[in-house]
Amino acid sequence: MTAHDTSSRHAAHFIDGERRSEPAARQTRSNKAPAGGAGGSVVPLDDLTAADSAVAAAARAFGAWSATPVGDRVQPLFRFKTLLESHADELAALLVRDHGKTRGEALGSVRRGIDCVEFACGAPALLMGRTLPQIAVSTSFCRTEDQGGVGIDSSVDRVPVGVCVGITPFNFPVMVPLWMWPMAVACGNTFVLKPSEKDPLPTLAVTELAHQAGLPRGVLNMVNGGVPVVNRLITHPEVAAISFVGSTRAGEHIYKTGAAHGKRVQCMCGAKNHSVVMPDANRAAAIEGITGSAFGNTGQRCLAGSVVVCVGDSGGWLVDGVRQAAAAMKVDRGDAAGCAMGPLVDQEALGRTRAFIDSGLADGARLVLDGRQANMPSQGCFIGPTIFDHCAAGMSIVDEEIFGPVLSVIRVGTLAEAIAAINRSRYGNMAVIFTSSGHDAHMFRTQAQAGMLGVNVGVPAPMAAFPFAGWKQSFLGDLHANGEDGVRFFTRQKVTVTRWL
Ligand code: NAD
Repeated sequence: MTAHDTSSRHAAHFIDGERRSEPAARQTRSNKAPAGGAGGSVVPLDDLTAADSAVAAAARAFGAWSATPVGDRVQPLFRFKTLLESHADELAALLVRDHGKTRGEALGSVRRGIDCVEFACGAPALLMGRTLPQIAVSTSFCRTEDQGGVGIDSSVDRVPVGVCVGITPFNFPVMVPLWMWPMAVACGNTFVLKPSEKDPLPTLAVTELAHQAGLPRGVLNMVNGGVPVVNRLITHPEVAAISFVGSTRAGEHIYKTGAAHGKRVQCMCGAKNHSVVMPDANRAAAIEGITGSAFGNTGQRCLAGSVVVCVGDSGGWLVDGVRQAAAAMKVDRGDAAGCAMGPLVDQEALGRTRAFIDSGLADGARLVLDGRQANMPSQGCFIGPTIFDHCAAGMSIVDEEIFGPVLSVIRVGTLAEAIAAINRSRYGNMAVIFTSSGHDAHMFRTQAQAGMLGVNVGVPAPMAAFPFAGWKQSFLGDLHANGEDGVRFFTRQKVTVTRWL
């Protein structure tokens, strides 16, 4: 099996070490290639038998896998990392075809996924527990040479939680699953992955590569599906923990339902991210950073900077510069030469983005770049970069997550007003400031309410060793994804108090 062998467009499950190509589903979803032409997939939505089989396979594998020494558990992950690197081009081609990313974006997302595998390979160090010898002395049963008592020691171990479930969104079908299962299995858990029903074939290819790398059967399973399958997994009695990435609406349901069924749950949810531009900012860096943040991945990123708050007179040069840069972006199929922005994932996303543009116009924002008029292919889910200036709080293009290439510009007088604009959002995923003032960067860092901040960085995506999650309605749970939080989420603590007689 190679990464490009997804010839059957009927998305197969991968359970207990093998492909299950004949799903028992009454409902299916047909995905078309976002850029038009060849591609697409047919995905089963309600194969509950497969969901049960996947959990059963993971539960069967748990005993032997959790007892396998951690140094042995990471060996397939080392080989998997190498396989991901050697198949990066094929995986990128799948992402271009099924998601619509540009080739550069696709390769970048594979690389960020590999970073997570590399971090999980460090599990032997990350899983070490702690010991405190001689927490007390017992005088019973002591011998004369014990000099007054027998020492009592205490230690805490990190142990796996059991069968873990991952539910992932469409926008990073290779990278986001790699936030979850490599660390989960390195910690000794077994895993059931439920990828997005919009583009599951790249995720399937990665799952198969993991098995090529020697992951034992049942340790990682992938089941396709929609809401019925999610609901089965998050209430299943044999599931211990759920990691979710997706919209706030779905996350709230999964968090409440999972918790009500006794599961440990973390939900990385939706976003509406603000970038502040100060008058003293490096102009070229701000223009480049904001253009990339707003329109990269066609705006379909939880770290997309989709609102710019221009302070003082920065609005003039910033809007002009971003408009010119965005208008020059080539909107095309992701594998076309010179393509800077690919299509949206599907017609529904295109319709939603167009509806937001209509609402911005109806609310009186000034349209300075109209993506509907961009030079782009006539087939497929294309729309160009769109910029609204003179936007205001209360407009849906300012308050709601669009998840498309639409940038809304607010103009304010002071940094305090800019920070207030960030903090009134119900989301708090990320926020960015462009400035050359250490003082203003400090004010921003201490006062902006978001889980991930950037200073002169358009997309402040934390590297794999750092926690990844937002605040407020961008996150539900305690422990963030990745880094040490990931280790803690996928383990529980066991304290042992020891006295030798
Ligand atoms: P989505 O919520 O529609 O789907 C995500 C997953 O949840 C899918 O696997 C889907 O099958 C499932 N799902 C959807 N609705 C459900 C429901 N009602 N009940 C149970 N399960 C349900 O999200 P999407 O459109 O695939 O992805 C885009 C969203 O993901 C955006 O809101 C984006 O901000 C968010 N996202 C967040 C992060 C983060 O780290 N915070 C990262 C990537 C994407």
